[in-house]
Amino acid sequence: MSFSSLKLSTPLIGIIEKEGYTNPTPIQRKLIPVLLDGHSAIASAQTGSGKTLAYLLPLLQLITPEDTAKHSYPKIFILSPTKELAQQIYEVSKPFVSALGMHAVLLQGGGRRTDEIQRLKRGVDMIIATPQRALEHIEARRIDIKGIRHLVVDEADMMFDLGFVGYLEKIFESMTERSQKIIVSATITPRVVKLAKAYIKPLKRIELDPPG
Ligand code: ADP
Ligand code: MG
Repeated sequence: MSFSSLKLSTPLIGIIEKEGYTNPTPIQRKLIPVLLDGHSAIASAQTGSGKTLAYLLPLLQLITPEDTAKHSYPKIFILSPTKELAQQIYEVSKPFVSALGMHAVLLQGGGRRTDEIQRLKRGVDMIIATPQRALEHIEARRIDIKGIRHLVVDEADMMFDLGFVGYLEKIFESMTERSQKIIVSATITPRVVKLAKAYIKPLKRIELDPPG
């Protein structure tokens, strides 16, 4: 199976090829169609299985050039538990975001607030952030959260390990009802399911069987 059979747009296929990805991974095959259809989902697959592009590609496709013409508000919001993981997502997204003419901003613990505020002011289509720093900018009204249509919580189980669930709950509560919400985790544990069920309705569950 190829990326083009997943109904990804010609511009995205072009960037995928340029970046050297030849075939979608199993979780990409399963998750991309579900997210392109606009469903909210909880998804799991082992570390290294390509979960980042599995959510990033469909969400980028759902944002139109008209939406991003003025970069006036964030439409995609990705939360990651650590600044290193947030940076990795940012790096993976970079070629796509720049080829599509979008603006992405990284907000992370340890990052300079003044720089982040400047970047937010310059205009943003997608935010990649650690939860505490994200919430700080939201509460200071530097992020217009009402325009966000797609929320991703990456590494959800690690969010619990690091004690971030309180931040996530606040962020979920401030999201509009009809936004598409995606929870991604290497393993779907009961506490992750509980969080998903509390904030996501209806919810599709996409799990990849462990190998072997
Ligand atoms: P996960 O989040 O599931 O741990 P990542 O999204 O970080 O995995 O991807 C792991 C690695 O696999 C990255 O180096 C990424 O560039 C690579 N990768 C992702 N999708 C593909 C693909 N379709 N073909 C080849 N490599 C891929
Ligand atoms: Mg990952």
